[in-house]
Amino acid sequence: MFQPELETLPRHQLEALQSERLREQVAYVYERVPFYRRMLDERGLEPSAIKSIQDIHKLPFTRKQDLREAYPFGLFAVPREQIARIHASSGTTGKPTVVGYTKGDLEIFAEVVARSLAAAGGRPGMMLHNAYGYGLFTGGLGLHAGAEKLGMTVVPISGGMTERQVMLIQDFKPEMIACTPSYAQTLAEAFRARGVAPEEISLKYAVLGAEPWTEAVRRSVDEGLGVASTNIYGLSEIIGPGVANEDVNEREGLSYIWEDHFYPEVVDPETGEPLPEGKLGVLVLTNLTKKAMPLLRYWTGDLTFLTREPGPSGRTHARMAQIRGRTDDMLIVRGVNVYPTQIEALLQEIPEVAPHYQIVLSRQGTLDEMELKLEVAEPFFRGLGVPALSEENVEADPRLSHLRERVGRKIKDHVGISVRVTLLSPGTAPRSEGGKLRRVLDLRKQG
Ligand code: ADP
Repeated sequence: MFQPELETLPRHQLEALQSERLREQVAYVYERVPFYRRMLDERGLEPSAIKSIQDIHKLPFTRKQDLREAYPFGLFAVPREQIARIHASSGTTGKPTVVGYTKGDLEIFAEVVARSLAAAGGRPGMMLHNAYGYGLFTGGLGLHAGAEKLGMTVVPISGGMTERQVMLIQDFKPEMIACTPSYAQTLAEAFRARGVAPEEISLKYAVLGAEPWTEAVRRSVDEGLGVASTNIYGLSEIIGPGVANEDVNEREGLSYIWEDHFYPEVVDPETGEPLPEGKLGVLVLTNLTKKAMPLLRYWTGDLTFLTREPGPSGRTHARMAQIRGRTDDMLIVRGVNVYPTQIEALLQEIPEVAPHYQIVLSRQGTLDEMELKLEVAEPFFRGLGVPALSEENVEADPRLSHLRERVGRKIKDHVGISVRVTLLSPGTAPRSEGGKLRRVLDLRKQG
């Protein structure tokens, strides 16, 4: 659902709309949410001090901790009876983060997802194979409602049961798939294992998100499934997927943020000061239209940069770069800060390895040890003429020992830490079975 009147709104008109919506939203939460009233009062801020979108930086940040403290419904701005649906984040540690939607919010959610799907290549009448998880996670139901809104035929398969997914894709012949990038890789491998060539798969478009991914993963999904994949970004606190999406004709790692609903800023992770366009920092988002639980200046923890240069599609909304990781995904190894995506981006420059890996952190005495378990690429592996890789044949074969050294040196040169590289046979690193894939195993925390 391309909405040209909104997506190509001249910037001054877009900013006027944002200013009006922000003024309303601040007055609304001040009136209805004790947490925000307290926060503004403590800073001596009257809602009337926010006159335009330029004043947004006067407002304090809202953080995940604030949601936890308000668990479960403490930040709702409407009586519970007016909440039409509840979602929650997975909450790997402790209680999940709970969010609520009014009927009107669900409309907005469906609209921004429909817009995202349209940007990704979706059209009314096409079929969407929706392999995002259904349930409290916003992915499944979010994509579902957006696709229906766009007029697509939805197959609500959810995650998991890969063999069944492969069969249904072959039988139903959907044009589009939505899932995590790691699960798209799993599906591509499952088709290959069945001897189905990418050209024989009906899929043309893939809309992938919910976890960080790189161009190397994009290439493997595009080639493996015969699709053009685009990035969809979002988080439950703000609405769910559909905060931003890449345009299928651009695919340069920049996703349009639907700025009439979500106001983006990028700030310095240490000081919280706004950063200029092009500078990497933490993405902060403000709900301009949501009513059940609007958040002001929500600190996403996601690292990206913004550009307001109009894109080739003619849209005027800001674009954000592919997420480099969340601040809480950051690994500190011997005092050096590392993001898994940083390693992944380096690997994509080495054609002999595949974008399938696991990082294992452990502690030897007082020292951190980082091991990178990394698959070699299929064509390279075939050329070796061995049934599987082992410590012995890596030592014995100079093609392998040199590759191992090259990977280690590249990481040392660019990231500054020494890693132990273990080369694996294709298909032996962990795979996604439906949802987000955890690529890091941190054994330091267990002792
Ligand atoms: P959870 O906290 O359980 O993971 P969410 O589904 O709300 O629940 O997760 C949102 C987070 O997922 C984002 O803050 C971001 O870190 C990550 N994420 C979502 N979409 C993308 C994407 N396209 N690229 C990178 N990371 C993403």
